[in-house]
Amino acid sequence: MLQRVLEYAHYLLASSVEEGDMVVDGTAGNGHDTVFLSKLVGEEGTVLSFDIQEKAILNTEDRIHEEQLKNVHLIQDSHDQLVKYIPDFHEEIGGAIYNLGYLPGSDKTIVTKPDTTLESVKEVLSRLKQEGMLVLVVYYGHSGGDEEKEALLKYLSQLSQKEFNVLRYGFINQVNKPPFILAVEKK
Ligand code: SAM
Repeated sequence: MLQRVLEYAHYLLASSVEEGDMVVDGTAGNGHDTVFLSKLVGEEGTVLSFDIQEKAILNTEDRIHEEQLKNVHLIQDSHDQLVKYIPDFHEEIGGAIYNLGYLPGSDKTIVTKPDTTLESVKEVLSRLKQEGMLVLVVYYGHSGGDEEKEALLKYLSQLSQKEFNVLRYGFINQVNKPPFILAVEKK
């Protein structure tokens, strides 16, 4: 059976993230991915969870408290500033997820942008552990979404196949610019 995009994104992370890893949620939003990652890495692991928007940070904080999770560093800053927040500069990243676009039910003008998304993606890829996975869920129906999608496709499609496997996964018969996944596995 074909998995829906968000289910498949979690499946990819669950297959590659290990307990004790340091992982990244590039877009905390309402905290669903942060909670998911936090449970995957366990008490010995760390989640660096970014969002520029206070509402997203507060929503994610609520989820973390509800679930009594202790391994999340919630950071109100842009994900392209990632390096500043890595506790040990040399530490590898076990996996990362970015849900692009805007926060559902919130200000639709606060969206991820091509330059900062790419900058952050490059940082993650340079620190990804062997067999680690970067998963981007690409929503592009909003204003500026097409530019971000094209920038990512251009960059990721030229990555060396000796170093990375790059996958695109999505449904091509859905209406209204359905989201799709770009997943990068470090070989
Ligand atoms: N993963 C989230 C969840 O599980 O609910 C949904 C994320 S939502 C589609 C996109 C989020 O990216 C928004 O909350 C927005 O504030 C955030 N965002 C936009 N630009 C950002 C940036 N440069 N750095 C970090 N977060 C950013």
